[in-house]
Amino acid sequence: MNVGFIGIGAMGKPMAQNLLKSSELKLHVYDVNNAAMDELAAQGAAPCASPRELAAASTVIILMLPNAAIVESTLTGEQGVLAGGKAGQIIIDMSSVSAASTWKMAALAQAKGMAYVDAPVSGGVTGATAGTLTIMVGGETTAVQAVQPVLQKIGKKIYHVGGSGAGDSIKVVNNLLLGINMAAVAEALVLGVKSGLDPKVMLEIIKESSGRSYALEAKTANFILKNSFTAGFAIDLEYKDLDLAMETAKSLDMPLPVGAMAQQVFAMAKAKGLGKEDISAVIKVWEELAGVQVRE
Ligand code: NAD
Repeated sequence: MNVGFIGIGAMGKPMAQNLLKSSELKLHVYDVNNAAMDELAAQGAAPCASPRELAAASTVIILMLPNAAIVESTLTGEQGVLAGGKAGQIIIDMSSVSAASTWKMAALAQAKGMAYVDAPVSGGVTGATAGTLTIMVGGETTAVQAVQPVLQKIGKKIYHVGGSGAGDSIKVVNNLLLGINMAAVAEALVLGVKSGLDPKVMLEIIKESSGRSYALEAKTANFILKNSFTAGFAIDLEYKDLDLAMETAKSLDMPLPVGAMAQQVFAMAKAKGLGKEDISAVIKVWEELAGVQVRE
């Protein structure tokens, strides 16, 4: 089977590399960053000059792009996926975007007889590298079943959540919680150090107590305590995901006060120039205000 992969970034590169390990498929790749494409080409992938060329060569087309605007521009336009695609092909958008954007793109794909599946992921670069991502899938059952063999090479837990956009919706809920938890961990750990506590002792105890969370466990030992903030999952991307949650809440006429506060914490980190750093770097905002550092 010919599979196309667009977006060879922090997540897309290891995901594409896992697909490359399979002898059953031929991988075609496209990215605006030529260096990223060259690396994959050296490992056996076929580089493409445009999303259109990639779509013409592929049965299944995977997108792993930063945001909905980029997904939309990659699909549409003269050199876009839809221009090169034909009836019977399946597009899988694994980027984190809104259900509303997916509905728009799915309608355009369907008008060409192409199927459209939203399949955002959780598990970070570690999960992408190990091939153990959690994949949250939305779309028609026939298309979702048809892409199972491809998704199984990328992820371990694959959930068909519902119709078009359902995968996006649950991803937004998950990342709303991630953002809130990360902002809370940062604030709380700085309070602890300011109170005279040893960060390693705090981590050890809270990990076994009711304040524990993924943000605490995954981000404290490996990022914050080690003073290592290379993304990982960038502040800019989590800010975008909090935006998706705020937009969704607004469209449903629902207040989201805790999410709004967490988003402001991420806005403060962005304003400090930390947008490209890992989400754990939001702690630097509180460290600066409190005049302490949470490190080993
Ligand atoms: P990234 O910025 O590292 O990678 C994005 C890639 O897309 C880059 O290689 C970039 O060159 C490429 N790109 C940008 N514009 C393009 C265009 N017009 N055409 C082709 N390629 C283009 O981002 P990432 O961390 O890999 O995240 C990708 C998606 O996955 C995002 O939607 C993000 O929210 C989501 N996500 C990320 C993580 C994570 O831990 N990083 C986890 C889960 C989900």
